Amino acid sequence: MTTVTTATSFKELGLIAPLLARLTELEYTQPTPIQAQAIPSVLAGRDLIAGANTGSGKTATFALPLLQQLSLELPSTRGSKQGNFVTGLILVPTRELAKQVADSIRSYAAHLNGEVKTVAVFGGVSANTQMLALRGGTDILVATPGRLLDLIASNAIKLDRVKTLVLDEADRMLSLGFADELAELLALMPNRPGKKQKQILLFSATFPDKVQALTQQLLNNPIEIQVQSADTSTLVQRVFTVNKGEKTAVLAHLIKQNQWQQALVFVNAKYRCVHIAEKLAKRGITAKVFHGDQSQGARTRVLNNFKSGEVEVLIATDIAARGIDIEKLPVVINFDLPRSPADYMHRIGRSGRAGEVGLAISLIDHEDYHHFSVIEKKNKVRLEREQVEGFEADEL
Ligand code: AMP
Repeated sequence: MTTVTTATSFKELGLIAPLLARLTELEYTQPTPIQAQAIPSVLAGRDLIAGANTGSGKTATFALPLLQQLSLELPSTRGSKQGNFVTGLILVPTRELAKQVADSIRSYAAHLNGEVKTVAVFGGVSANTQMLALRGGTDILVATPGRLLDLIASNAIKLDRVKTLVLDEADRMLSLGFADELAELLALMPNRPGKKQKQILLFSATFPDKVQALTQQLLNNPIEIQVQSADTSTLVQRVFTVNKGEKTAVLAHLIKQNQWQQALVFVNAKYRCVHIAEKLAKRGITAKVFHGDQSQGARTRVLNNFKSGEVEVLIATDIAARGIDIEKLPVVINFDLPRSPADYMHRIGRSGRAGEVGLAISLIDHEDYHHFSVIEKKNKVRLEREQVEGFEADEL
């Protein structure tokens, strides 16, 4: 990948040798801007609020200090040595993100001699295996809120001794459907000012009022970092106007013409994934679908196959919009426009990650014109309306 230029090295950030050795193996030659700015303060125990886009290297920003703090602590004070407690809790909005974050943490911990135990829990799969994994406690737990509450209710894990809390994708965690669960979980953790202070790290791509209120209420003199994403410079956004009813034809044409190795296509409903995959099949393009009605096994399989390049076209709902890291994903296509301008940013952020060149294409028919202007305005961009040769849209 392209490295982001910052003056600092990982060593200068104060990381310990086993972590540095692993970063060298992973070919992380330099810290990304958010890593360079945040890691020393997080290591020192400060709270953090980071406005960081996906792809900015935020997982390592919280994972490396957390691993270091845990590996330097007396084993007896860690969650995995205390019964069913957890020391570092990371809350994320989707199952895939829970798995991905836990995998990254385990990878960063490769040279810590198995000292730090990491468990991921999320819905859609059997709770029994997760209960077994939690037996005896864990040092790091990556969780989606609903499943975590279930596991707490069955006494599989307790949050009383959480020392570090990470809220990833905080804006999403505070949206409808999650806010109540999050409040319930926060009430179970050590409160401040209390004996067991906890460190809180909050990551959010956007800062709606709810996130700001939470920040005021929870965080203690946090360092604040706003990382202007390196992505925007490497991610090209384009918009094509098409006639209603011609989007599938245009999509098939673009896929064939550009010979993309991988294309992630977003639609707005589960049934539309299947419907559009069927229409593409008639045009000789094999696409797989990814949505919330699939079993977790199917979701994992299809995502892995897409990541490995076996599946070339993936048609997904917004469950794929956040956090998912697909290396070198060349293009994201908005077949349906997302309802919210924030979701537009999340979707297109799947491409052009970590300094790679990326492309985001939106297909708009006449009914989408106004909504796309709103998305542009909110995201402070203005794109030239383009036409696809052979599929020119009628004048309004
Ligand atoms: P994240 O924003 O945490 O999802 O990270 C985005 C991608 O960048 C992941 O594939 C990471 O493995 C990669 N990455 C994170 N930090 C660095 C770094 N300092 N150097 C190179 N790659 C990195």
